Amino acid sequence: MSKKYVYMFSEGNASMRNLLGGKGANLAEMTILGLPIPQGFTITTEACTEYNEGGKKLTDEMIAQIEVALGKLEEIAGKKLGDPENPLLVSVRSGARASMPGMMDTVLNLGLNDISVEGLARKTGNPRFAYDSYRRFIMMFADVVIGVSKSKFERKLDEYKEQVGAKYDTDLSAEDLKKVAEMFKQIYLDDQGKEFPQDPKEQLFEAAMAVFRSWDNPRAFVYRRMNDIPYSWGTAVNVQMMVFGNMGDTSGTGVAFTRNAATGEKAMLGEYLVNAQGEDVVAGVRTPKPIAKLAEDMPEVYAQFMEIANKLENHYKDMQDMEFTVEEGKLYFLQTRNGKRTANAALRIAVEMVDEGLLTKEEALMKVDPKQLDQILHPAFDQKALKAATPIGKGLPASPGAAAGKVCFTAEDAKAQAEAGDRVILVRLETSPEDIEGMAAAQGILTVRGGMTSHAAVVARGMGTCCVSGCEEIKMNEEAKTFTLGGKTFKEGDYISLDGSTGNIYGEDIPTVDPEISGNFAKFMAWADEKRVLKVRTNADTPHDAQTAIDFGAEGIGLTRTEHMFFEGDRIMKFRKMILAETVEERKAALAGIEPFQKDDFKGIYKAMGERPVTIRLLDPPLHEFMPNTEEEFEVLAKETGKTVEELKIKAKGLHELNPMMGHRGCRLAVSYPEIAEMQTKAIIEAAVEVSVEEGIEIVPEIMIPLVGEIKELKYVKNVVVETAEKAMEEKGKKLKYLVGTMIEIPRAALTADQIATEAEFFSFGTNDLTQMTYGLSRDDAGKILADYIDKNIYECDPTARLDRTGVGQLMQWAVEKAKPVRPDIHLGICGEHGGDPSSVEFCHQIGLDYVSCSPFRVPIARLAAAQAQINFPRN
Ligand code: PEP
Ligand code: MG
Repeated sequence: MSKKYVYMFSEGNASMRNLLGGKGANLAEMTILGLPIPQGFTITTEACTEYNEGGKKLTDEMIAQIEVALGKLEEIAGKKLGDPENPLLVSVRSGARASMPGMMDTVLNLGLNDISVEGLARKTGNPRFAYDSYRRFIMMFADVVIGVSKSKFERKLDEYKEQVGAKYDTDLSAEDLKKVAEMFKQIYLDDQGKEFPQDPKEQLFEAAMAVFRSWDNPRAFVYRRMNDIPYSWGTAVNVQMMVFGNMGDTSGTGVAFTRNAATGEKAMLGEYLVNAQGEDVVAGVRTPKPIAKLAEDMPEVYAQFMEIANKLENHYKDMQDMEFTVEEGKLYFLQTRNGKRTANAALRIAVEMVDEGLLTKEEALMKVDPKQLDQILHPAFDQKALKAATPIGKGLPASPGAAAGKVCFTAEDAKAQAEAGDRVILVRLETSPEDIEGMAAAQGILTVRGGMTSHAAVVARGMGTCCVSGCEEIKMNEEAKTFTLGGKTFKEGDYISLDGSTGNIYGEDIPTVDPEISGNFAKFMAWADEKRVLKVRTNADTPHDAQTAIDFGAEGIGLTRTEHMFFEGDRIMKFRKMILAETVEERKAALAGIEPFQKDDFKGIYKAMGERPVTIRLLDPPLHEFMPNTEEEFEVLAKETGKTVEELKIKAKGLHELNPMMGHRGCRLAVSYPEIAEMQTKAIIEAAVEVSVEEGIEIVPEIMIPLVGEIKELKYVKNVVVETAEKAMEEKGKKLKYLVGTMIEIPRAALTADQIATEAEFFSFGTNDLTQMTYGLSRDDAGKILADYIDKNIYECDPTARLDRTGVGQLMQWAVEKAKPVRPDIHLGICGEHGGDPSSVEFCHQIGLDYVSCSPFRVPIARLAAAQAQINFPRN
């Protein structure tokens, strides 16, 4: 039997998301629930993948199955596509497995042509509606399917409205709209050199292919990259019988969330427009009415709407984002999906749904995307500065947070200026999917048009970017790149500030501060901590970072990089002297000058961490990174050392390496200059002894040797460390327990982990270097190369951000499996950047690591990701 590419809504269900996409699966589920859904069918994601990977055409089999499904739909609807008397019209919409708002394209009113439009006019007795639908269809089809610029049509429509003195589209008569449809067809003919397609089946196949192709468009790439959605998923196509919100005053269309998507409050948040089609609400061309008004306009419809909305929320056990249409007093649901929400809203909804008995704690933990927690760590305004400032205008509080920056008027400008290091606010009449990169680059987004569910609002909320939308007081001059608000004209580069939580707009640069974290956060994170088995540590080099990480729930330090410590105050001078020393004695003398400072560094960190474990890594980067860069620095150093600038330059040149990342760094420094390891070990141990005594606690320092690839080099450096530590304890008159371990960041160390484990008491996977060396791809130069690889679908995502399980991960797994039999109590962790990436955390959990370590701000992300990993893949 041939593969099934097409499913009627009545043939699917919610579990078929991968094949039918989110929208298709939910439409099928709602059909099962007996809700008022305009019927239709879904062309599968597999068809999309075959289309894009194959000849970019629908196969005969696909076409045959679409025709059969269409026949069934015509039977259900009691009308036929293209029928001259009673035409069936359909919408064609994309629907990927994960919702991608605004990213994929939609065509409405498909099936209209010069003949069927007349049939529609006669059948409905409403020619105005028929021609309104036709002109919309021509424009959408031309824009979305063929790629004729939408602005050509919009300009023509504006010209015509001006000519007949119409303010809104709704002021146009049937005759007007008929003329507009004719003009639109002419635009199509002029642009394409052929007539607008009149065959409805051709329209349908073309539209379906356009949805498939839109999976391949640059906006979709950007969105996927930002949200870790693999290219291979593809999108489904939903073909759904049209119902009409533009049939007069008893019709309308809207979107609604069952809870407030910005705050999480349990209150319906929605908007609708009377006598309109869906795109009017989303595009924000007219400002819609709040959903509560529907209770006055159409009380029965409102009651039914509320009942179904609640039913959907209870059924999916999640906040729903719904689209509905009222056609001459009859309510239809067009789609439902789990709504996008801010991180604070997500936490509040998860916590309240547990309190309401709708969710178990475990289910609640699965409802929040760990990456989203980033958002609650976003800035707010400095309250004092805010009090002193006066708003110059107000829009809708579309996405919370605070932002201040320079005004930009185009997405390209925003992107370019952000790349140049500026904070920018993107100011637009309204946003559209093309603006995605500029929106991502901006600190904040301000729009003149659009409601709480407009493109700008939905996308900004998803990104966690501050957004104020629908500030209609703004007089915008896009050409001149200026806008006027509150009596002041702003030009490109002027500073403004936005408060996404109140909608206030300020004409100045207001400083921002770190956010407060709500009680829901603590409650929710405590559930995550109860669940997870993986510990979460942090990478911190200062007492301040260590404290921040503890506040975010870190249970220890997995990596203290000591290199930054050498740049403080006049230490760098001493360190340079050490590098330039000609003899061991000179080197030791120089290092002795640094040791007290180094000891203080470690004492500060131990004090911040208490009895929590602390891993300190011996010096790692190549020495030339510490050499002077400027003439002035050379001169100062010459004075200090009694050497000439020339001599120093020769020495610096001698330290230069062609490939420093694979050069004289890591444990190789300790092999060449054991004095460095001695000084650091002494400082680590003495600091631990002193703080243990001072604070009355037991500190167990973990000394980590970097960049090991060979057991003998580890042994050599470990001997230096152990001898020094023992001596230091003896001198201090106090013994303490300490561990010596290594980073696994060179593939050879992973491959020979059974040998390495005979010496190392712990492993910490340094996946930054391990990825660099496994791929043979320089960490410092990978950006540009990776962008091409991701664009060309060679890599699905950036392996420096998300652990490559197939290659790098395999090495890690091998190392774990080799090491455990040799040293069953070996302690295993990760301290590469991947330690704060949810997918990588899941992998670390699966291969049995004891902990992950990440930057302080990602600690909450790792805690939640670890809990989710335990729910999905339980381990002891
Ligand atoms: C690593 O390589 O993963 C690591 C944590 O060390 P660094 O980034 O300092 O090289
Ligand atoms: Mg490293």
